[in-house]
Amino acid sequence: MTENIIESGDPQARYDSVIEKDSKYVMQTYGHQPLVLSKGKGAVVQDIYGKEYIDCVAGIAVNNVGHCHPAVVKAIQAQAENLIHVSNLYYTEIQAEFAETLASITGMERVFFCNSGAESVEAAMKLARLATGKSAFVAAEHSFHGRTIGALSVTHKSMYRDPFMPPVSSETAFVPYSDAEAIRQAISENTAAVILEPIQGEGGVNIPGPGYLKEVKEICDETGTLLIFDEVQTGFGRTGTWFCKEQFGIEPDIMSMAKSIGGGFPMGAIAARNGISFGRGQHAATFGGGPLACAAALASVKVIKEEKLLERSKEMGAYFREKLAGMARDDVVEVRGKGLMIGVEIKYPCSKFVDFAREQGVLVNCTSESVLRLVPPLVITKEQIDTVVDVLEQA
Ligand SMILES: *Cc1c(COP(=O)(O)O)cnc(C)c1O
Repeated sequence: MTENIIESGDPQARYDSVIEKDSKYVMQTYGHQPLVLSKGKGAVVQDIYGKEYIDCVAGIAVNNVGHCHPAVVKAIQAQAENLIHVSNLYYTEIQAEFAETLASITGMERVFFCNSGAESVEAAMKLARLATGKSAFVAAEHSFHGRTIGALSVTHKSMYRDPFMPPVSSETAFVPYSDAEAIRQAISENTAAVILEPIQGEGGVNIPGPGYLKEVKEICDETGTLLIFDEVQTGFGRTGTWFCKEQFGIEPDIMSMAKSIGGGFPMGAIAARNGISFGRGQHAATFGGGPLACAAALASVKVIKEEKLLERSKEMGAYFREKLAGMARDDVVEVRGKGLMIGVEIKYPCSKFVDFAREQGVLVNCTSESVLRLVPPLVITKEQIDTVVDVLEQA
């Protein structure tokens, strides 16, 4: 790993200084782990003491191609020497090229670029309203679509929603996940779209029952309701295919993407088909589809193709789940997932697991109280998986 910009002095003093500055100057929104990270390579990150960790969080399903993949680093460096930012008042070659790439891997007609997951959900909601002239949404219980006011109005968890009510879409109907009939009941004359994660991430790595998404699609078609898939977390090989929708054999009308799209560089996008599109002046983002983001994303997509990371996600995911299911513990309720999006549900809150694993050099995330979410870089090796399972078995 290369030298850091800030790297001098006693690590303990540097650690203390970070904690002090953060607690003094940063709004205390995050439940930070007691860890100051400074470097990463592949599936491993390093803290300022030089201690290494196998990273099964990966920026929460962001670093799919691994930390600081040389091809992504090189693409960002090269692009930064030519253009870092220009307005969408002008064209760039790199944006045109990535738009073509993204349309091709999503199988959609047109894309719009933004900068984050929530922003992509906002764009999808606006587009659904524009395309239908209707305003309401149907979303699933335990859904997570982001923290901006619009995205929040289709996000289910009351802790995230309640302090910020009323929502923009006061008519959002939340229905049980994996119950197609409930969606049929919830669709009204004013429903613009149904929005779903094809596998719920934050909600606990919940996989829909067989036939559910297909049935939802049929109900949407019958009722003239749009279907939005939020693939922010499930995209770019996370579940073993480019997008999770492929595994269910259905096409949404609009999809939202972000997290791993830029190989770690912030970026979001939506894609739409059937002629659904914004027209001139109907949506915009100053930084959307900027040169650095597009360069990073193009490089990342190329890495996924060249290193066959879709196949790898499938293979390693199956291996990981099999090993997890074989752990000698009686407090595991279920091991579930697709590709390298894995949930291990246990019988009690899992935050203690997170602490133990970290001390043993493994980073994992606990979501929905009792589900360990494992979303490592797709480049994780079998050896690293073995180490992670050993640690979780002892935890
Ligand atoms: C993370 C996530 C979001 C929000 O993304 P941000 O970039 O944090 O705004 C939206 N939808 C899903 C499914 C996510 O996992």
